[in-house]
Amino acid sequence: MDAAIAAEKSWIPESLRRVEAAAAARLLPGSADAIETRLMGLIEAHERHMDRETLGLNAGTNVMNPRAAALLARSLGNRPSLGYVGDKYEMGMQFAEQIEVVAEGLVKRLFRAPFAEIRVGSGALANLYVFMATCRPGDRIMAMPPELGGHVTHHRAGAAGLYGLEIHPLPVDAAATAIDLERLRADAKRLLPKVITVAGSLCLFPYPVRELRAIADEIGAVLLYDAAHMAGIIAGGRFQAPLEEGAHVMTMSTYKAYGGPPSGLVLTADAALAARLDPIAYPGLTANFDLGKTAALALATLDLLEHGPAYAGTCIANAQALGAALAAEGLPVHAVPGRGHTASHHLALHAAPYGGGQAASKTLAAANILLCGIGLPLPPVAGDLNGIRIGTQEVTRWGLEPAHMPDIARLIARVWRDGEDPAAVRRDVVALRRGFQTMRYVRG
Ligand SMILES: *Cc1c(COP(=O)(O)O)cnc(C)c1O
Repeated sequence: MDAAIAAEKSWIPESLRRVEAAAAARLLPGSADAIETRLMGLIEAHERHMDRETLGLNAGTNVMNPRAAALLARSLGNRPSLGYVGDKYEMGMQFAEQIEVVAEGLVKRLFRAPFAEIRVGSGALANLYVFMATCRPGDRIMAMPPELGGHVTHHRAGAAGLYGLEIHPLPVDAAATAIDLERLRADAKRLLPKVITVAGSLCLFPYPVRELRAIADEIGAVLLYDAAHMAGIIAGGRFQAPLEEGAHVMTMSTYKAYGGPPSGLVLTADAALAARLDPIAYPGLTANFDLGKTAALALATLDLLEHGPAYAGTCIANAQALGAALAAEGLPVHAVPGRGHTASHHLALHAAPYGGGQAASKTLAAANILLCGIGLPLPPVAGDLNGIRIGTQEVTRWGLEPAHMPDIARLIARVWRDGEDPAAVRRDVVALRRGFQTMRYVRG
């Protein structure tokens, strides 16, 4: 390795520094052609692994309509589109700028939202935009805690903390895996947060948005619904309608259940809030926002307008069938008394029997079944997460239906319950996946 650029990342664990150094030693020597060949080989291997040979049960990902994905490579993203449609700073954008009109109009139609900010690079930035539009550094917010799926962007290490907000957790009713509304009302009156966040990275059941809005109104707070995960099934009309139920603003990622490009959105019915978001998008935090992603988002949104209800319905039916099948195999599926396993495309399992959520996920990944850990309102597991999260959106897009869920449950049980060699299970996973290679719920 070039001595001049061989600095040590001293803040990274030694074991990971060794992994990265070994990869660099393997990938970077030789000619430009040799390096390009290795780069293309990695992309091929990744696509075969992720898109052909694994069962993707990770809630925080999805496959994209290939026609939408192809738009990312068109001649759009490197042509900056700065300013309002009809008055761009750069010349020559009279055709390209109309792509923004299409995407914004479709997104507003999909979510029945009067205002949509589409110039948002990611779900994390969408949350930052809202914090900047509603708070000053030093203000208080109340955020979904990690044991109810609260995302890092609502907390100290993420957008909220980096912007200098003082963050207080929403109180938890652990037995119900829910927000304790009575305690929240008392806490909110004492703390006077500027923003209350709801929803997160694990959303098993709809949230009491009307009740939360009533509490927010008592203290003049803004209610932010983070639909990073639920966007796709909210779009399909199968979970809840946060803006209609009273959320002031809804943020989301567009590459998870939405099935679009890696980007973000902020939606609101509040014109004053939309006006404060506009200059944060530009000239505030973006110059070029990548019109290629905007075009891909428009196509993904057309998919949801046409197939959203059927897609969302199958995602939920698959999650409910998989929950029942995993429980029938004797696995510890998280259930909420009186409500069951889930009303969304998410499911959770207790991770303590498997040494923690990330440890269990790594074991299963060796069998080509992909998911990851999550926090639950249960006793902690030292050095790991205490829950495991499943999302059915990707297997649903690959055409798996409720009748296939017992097969998946059995494959998972062979690894976690029976301790079978993951390599043996992997052969059966690859064989199962071979039968599901056509993407569903996308326009042809
Ligand atoms: C994934 C996620 C985000 C961040 O989204 P990115 O688009 O990956 O930045 C924000 N909020 C929640 C609840 C999430 O799960």
